[in-house]
Amino acid sequence: MKIANQNNRAVIVDGENTIDIAEASGGRFGPDPQTVLAEWDAFIDAAPSLTGPSKPLDMSALGNPTGVPHQVFAIGLNYRTHAEESGMKVPEVPATFTKFPTSLSGPFDDIEIVGDTVDWEVELVAVLGRRADRVSEAEAWSYVAGLTVGQDISDRALQFAAGSQFSLGKSRRGYGPMGPWLVTLDEFDDPNDLALGCSVDGEVVQDARSDDLIFSVPRIIAELSSVLPLLPGDVIFTGTPSGVGMARKPPRALAPGNVVETWIEGIGQMRNVCV
Ligand code: ZN
Repeated sequence: MKIANQNNRAVIVDGENTIDIAEASGGRFGPDPQTVLAEWDAFIDAAPSLTGPSKPLDMSALGNPTGVPHQVFAIGLNYRTHAEESGMKVPEVPATFTKFPTSLSGPFDDIEIVGDTVDWEVELVAVLGRRADRVSEAEAWSYVAGLTVGQDISDRALQFAAGSQFSLGKSRRGYGPMGPWLVTLDEFDDPNDLALGCSVDGEVVQDARSDDLIFSVPRIIAELSSVLPLLPGDVIFTGTPSGVGMARKPPRALAPGNVVETWIEGIGQMRNVCV
């Protein structure tokens, strides 16, 4: 099942059509995607019986499929090749920061370029469907509602200012495109091994597979939930593979007019224009 956020309302995507979850459930779930995720198990039980007038899918009206989550976790240096290109040691625990929730944006929203060090980072994003507190790696997938595509857009100058402030440098407004929808785990042959990549103006700049993650999605959930509870609707950006602009020789940065396309196998593709 694919869940999208169309005109700020959670919808089930069915081919070219959508079913409004709040309308179809008589107000039991939604319309805010966070309220669907807050009762994810009940929603999954009810979903097969949710029918209603369908409306056409309007890609231009899609927002971040999770709405505004309580917590957003992001993992740095989580692909060996990216740690190497960054000249940093492969960490022994997930290198964790946040993207502040108001920085998240939709799959076709513009990216406002500030300065000349704004960079791309394709990332697999996991969304929680249950409260996860001290869960083991073995059971962690059962806490995930689904997966989506993310861009961890990064202002490198701000990220490394004042010593280092990853959270702020990755949280300019609109610097977290997500989407186009949340895809439930039953739709994947193997959610641990998905092709992902991104292009700038049609040139592929990142191309990898998620089985190269140093800390897998279940391992990240186990590690984070050993420190604090993760809430339904929370978002985890799992880290980016090699090919970011900062590591290129010479370095590259996004500029107004660039078009960033970002995709993950089995989920879909985003398209964001830099302005
Ligand atoms: Zn990142």
